[in-house]
Amino acid sequence: MTTIHPIKLGFVTSYLIESPKGAVLVDAGYAKKENHLWKFLQKQNIDPSAIKLIVITHGHLDHVGSLKKIKEKTGAPVLIHESEGKLLKAGESPAVHVTINWLSKLISPDKKIKVIPVEPDIMITDDFPLDDYGVNGKVIHTPGHTAGSLTVIVDSKYAIVGDTAMKFPILSRSSYEPIVAENIQQVFQSWQRIIDEGVETIYPAHGKVIGIDVLKDILSNRG
Ligand SMILES: [Zn+2]
Ligand SMILES: [Zn+2]
Repeated sequence: MTTIHPIKLGFVTSYLIESPKGAVLVDAGYAKKENHLWKFLQKQNIDPSAIKLIVITHGHLDHVGSLKKIKEKTGAPVLIHESEGKLLKAGESPAVHVTINWLSKLISPDKKIKVIPVEPDIMITDDFPLDDYGVNGKVIHTPGHTAGSLTVIVDSKYAIVGDTAMKFPILSRSSYEPIVAENIQQVFQSWQRIIDEGVETIYPAHGKVIGIDVLKDILSNRG
């Protein structure tokens, strides 16, 4: 049995995929939030060393902030897309392209955002199976929010998508598209890819779980 545990690490949700053979952590939250993870593991009686891999969906600061500390304590290798991995190593964040008009006036994509540098162990450009880490699943490339955004598919049914789909109660419009996207057309193509994988449920880093039909409806209404 595989269980997907949501863990709040600040205003963002990381997910722990737990299976009898091992555990994979997806994303590492804001900086200085690692204690939330340790508390969670303690409560669940899971040793930090049970985490066999840390997958980073993308390099924005709310997803890599506590990564250095988490990597140190778990000893787990860090997997990230090559394009974001190079930035992470240098302590840089991928550009933030805000899709909401009024907000884009406040945040420019040219603004340099620093993150705590971490040396990635596995940099991918293509699909990556998770069987060796005890999880029935794979990592796929779903660009759009950022060029190197990744999605983790578990049991062919669940998709942990980072910021490829989201629901910000205050900021988002009626749709579930990210409020930040380097290329919004690519986001919709990535949604189609996730749908084509046979996924039923989306686990976003921001907001509540989303049924796949919501994304299907949005895509079909776009024509
Ligand atoms: Zn992001
Ligand atoms: Zn985010």
